[in-house]
Amino acid sequence: MLERIKRQGLAVAIMSVVCAAVIPSVALARKPQPPAPATSCLFHDAHFHLTNYVQKGTDMGKYVDEIMGDKVCRSTVFGIPLQQTWSYGNSGDFAPTYYLQSDAPLYYYSFTDAWIASQYLKLKPEQRQRLDPMITGFNPADMYAVDHIRRVLETYPGVFTGIGEFTIHKEFVSAKIAGEIASLTNPALDRILDFAGEVGLAVILHSDIDMPFAKAGAEPVFLKQMKDLLRRHPQTTIIWAHLGLGRVVHPVQGQATSDAAERNPAYRELVEAMVNDPTLSHVYFDISWDEVAKYAVSSPESIENTAAMLNKYPERFLFGTDNVAPADQTAQLRVYDMWAPIWSRLTPEASLKVRTGNYERVFDAARVRVRAWEKANVK
Ligand SMILES: [Zn+2]
Repeated sequence: MLERIKRQGLAVAIMSVVCAAVIPSVALARKPQPPAPATSCLFHDAHFHLTNYVQKGTDMGKYVDEIMGDKVCRSTVFGIPLQQTWSYGNSGDFAPTYYLQSDAPLYYYSFTDAWIASQYLKLKPEQRQRLDPMITGFNPADMYAVDHIRRVLETYPGVFTGIGEFTIHKEFVSAKIAGEIASLTNPALDRILDFAGEVGLAVILHSDIDMPFAKAGAEPVFLKQMKDLLRRHPQTTIIWAHLGLGRVVHPVQGQATSDAAERNPAYRELVEAMVNDPTLSHVYFDISWDEVAKYAVSSPESIENTAAMLNKYPERFLFGTDNVAPADQTAQLRVYDMWAPIWSRLTPEASLKVRTGNYERVFDAARVRVRAWEKANVK
């Protein structure tokens, strides 16, 4: 299998094993062929949490065999770096499992990376091939965060493809994290992104573009800081999670005829300007999270605009679910199904890139680079 991967390229080998139905022309070119899956795979999941805010979740082998099954060919896999404290003084006997269920703080739980690595190392090689584990258990406001990332790579070589999802600004969450508040202007974050670029780690970064309940007509508060940050790291492949949106951080509503439109373009114009900016060509956007899907399909106009954007710039968007510890395959496919009105409006080429092609390009390149860095740097 390893020799074959070397000869044919990682993407082709993986696709021919688990995704034959998606690109039959590639599959047919290879002989002899493994039996084709009974049904076609729908997507690769560029944003997936195996565990929740109290570090509980799905067994990784079960995730691959039963939840991804023959519907999801490949997937990122990470925990959540933040642990919700169960403060007896706050909620008594009620054990909170989500950040909105308690006033007690969240703290960085670095053991998540060891947990993910240990689960991954128990898998069979063919199960591992379908996963891209990510490092998340670091505090992005800590100048030592980069040492944690390096230590994880040294301890578990051959496992991780990238870092993230980690969070800078997130509604209701940032203010609950114990210690210094993370910031897009903190040099600790620059160190992390520099190191990711040096190693080749793909980055999934969550940072809301705006404050919750921001005033209409104002430029999103964090847009300039975010663009400045991204421009400082042109050698690092960065996926901006959820297009910078949140549960209440909604797409900015521009008014085509008002003065405000000059200062406050519709959200799609902000994204389009970034996609067309040559200084941001290393930046991708994931369209994960059911909250984002809700915006995308909220009206016929939104469906048309979103489909038009994906058709025009299919290389820059990745589909992901942002599921947290789903119980079964039905739960895993729910966000994908929400996008149905948009999938049906995409060209075959755009659809394939957003669902699978961009994932392969970004994560295969990262795998190759991280393995090379490990070979050169891990004794
Ligand atoms: Zn997420």
